[in-house]
Amino acid sequence: MAEKKTKFIVVAGSIMSGLGKGILTSSIGKLLQARGYNVIPIKFDGYLNVDCGTMNPFRHGEVFVLDDGTEVDMDFGTYERFLNLSIPGTSSITGGKVFSRIIEKERKGEYLGRDVQFVPHLTDEIKDRVREVGKKNNADIVLIEVGGTVGDLENGYFLEAMRQLSFEEDNLLFIQLTYVPSLSEGELKTKPTQHATRLLQSMGIQPHMVICREQEPLTEEAKKKISAYCNVKEDAVFDDPMVRTVYELPLVLEKQGIYKVIAEKLGLDEKREVDLKEWKKAVDKIIEPKGKVLKVAIVGKYTAVKDAYVSVKEALVHAASAINHGLEVKWVESADLEGTPGGVERKLKEFDAILVPGGFGKRGVEGKINAIKWARENKVPYLGLCLGLQLMTVEYARNICGMNGANSTEFDKETKYPVIDILPEQKKITKMGATMRLGAYDCELKDGTIAYKSYEKSGRSTKISERHRHRYEVNPDFVEPLGNCGLVISGTHPESGVVEIVEWPEKFGFGAATQAHIELKSRLAEPAPLFVAFLKAASERVERKS
Ligand code: GLN
Repeated sequence: MAEKKTKFIVVAGSIMSGLGKGILTSSIGKLLQARGYNVIPIKFDGYLNVDCGTMNPFRHGEVFVLDDGTEVDMDFGTYERFLNLSIPGTSSITGGKVFSRIIEKERKGEYLGRDVQFVPHLTDEIKDRVREVGKKNNADIVLIEVGGTVGDLENGYFLEAMRQLSFEEDNLLFIQLTYVPSLSEGELKTKPTQHATRLLQSMGIQPHMVICREQEPLTEEAKKKISAYCNVKEDAVFDDPMVRTVYELPLVLEKQGIYKVIAEKLGLDEKREVDLKEWKKAVDKIIEPKGKVLKVAIVGKYTAVKDAYVSVKEALVHAASAINHGLEVKWVESADLEGTPGGVERKLKEFDAILVPGGFGKRGVEGKINAIKWARENKVPYLGLCLGLQLMTVEYARNICGMNGANSTEFDKETKYPVIDILPEQKKITKMGATMRLGAYDCELKDGTIAYKSYEKSGRSTKISERHRHRYEVNPDFVEPLGNCGLVISGTHPESGVVEIVEWPEKFGFGAATQAHIELKSRLAEPAPLFVAFLKAASERVERKS
């Protein structure tokens, strides 16, 4: 059998950041997948960090974690949510990774006396990695998103590598995403796109397709201009309009006939049947849900930067779609729930459900504990993620088990009741990068619990595997005392005994929390079971109240 020829699609963004390259890349992947092609995404990030595990979510957005424990840029979350894939860490190619490899090779003398250069050594390293990812994942098409904006110093060497790749491979489609502003209604300005394309051409790259973000639909006239000035056929200029939900973009691009142009360039079967039925159903339920709007509070620290909790928000979107309910998510700053008497009630009483996501550091911790207490006392459904599990345990210990001053040793080293403590293997670690308990670990669920029922109901195995990123755990010495006063331990890691899921006893209503970040594996096509159960509980409460 002839060796399969992998095809490549490269997506680069011009003019400015934040145009939604990740969503575009994922949408194109979806349209290929919907025709039975096997796709794998790759992301280039020009920064010199090896990974983004050491970056502050306040500056960089959420740190996403893959099954193999690699800490990656949040675009990977978008890829996985759209494509329902678990992507390997090798798909994340950063400046830090390629430069450290080059320097390591140089020190070993592997360059045999040559001077080591950006071209060919660095660019070869990048191309080798890209081809390897395609091969290892048996991909028909490799989707490559170039982070940053064309013209940045940081991603210049990645673009150069892609220029070379397009020359070496005849099956490569280069897409430029640009922005088309309008000064007044109907007055679309194509000049920035023209200049941006010139810039790309000066790097030796001719895009085959130009996709335009804009506030209003692209006119025929604007398309003609872009085509004429940018050397791109008119039918290869596409509109990336404002959408009601990001998951709508594949459907919008499909309608414009984007696949035909992709197929032509890459030599794919133009007539292949497309199946987007289930996708469309899920999208329709987001846009026009039948059930009432459920108001959910995310109580956290970085609430000013929504990107810090993007996977949590999206997991809620998936779950709401699954139960066909409307959703309104609000971000509540945890520090605002400290101090003023009655403040917690004032801030939280409008919500149908409360969620405490992951987090690090002491600031705002007591506010989160106050929110959890309020949820428990008022039987408002509660879901905790990672730190949200640890603080649920602290609240329960303090207020139900009589362990006054119980805490996590992350926040109080001297506490009499260290119900949350550092994992034994974490004690000796001194380096910061990639040293937490990271990635997928198994968890065995206890029959009869909320967790067990919710995974079973979603048709999943009750021996589950979810992703982690933490240094602390429920202190094994306290498992029995906490259990004696009613806290339900519904999931544990079979090998180490690490507590993975805890729940309130039934009398407090729905309360469950996971040490894992279950939001990271929630996809539109496969929502996280505990998120679904959480919103179901919220909807039942809303029904009871009305
Ligand atoms: N700070 C806590 C820990 O390290 C929780 C981490 C998290 O929420 N990701 O265990």
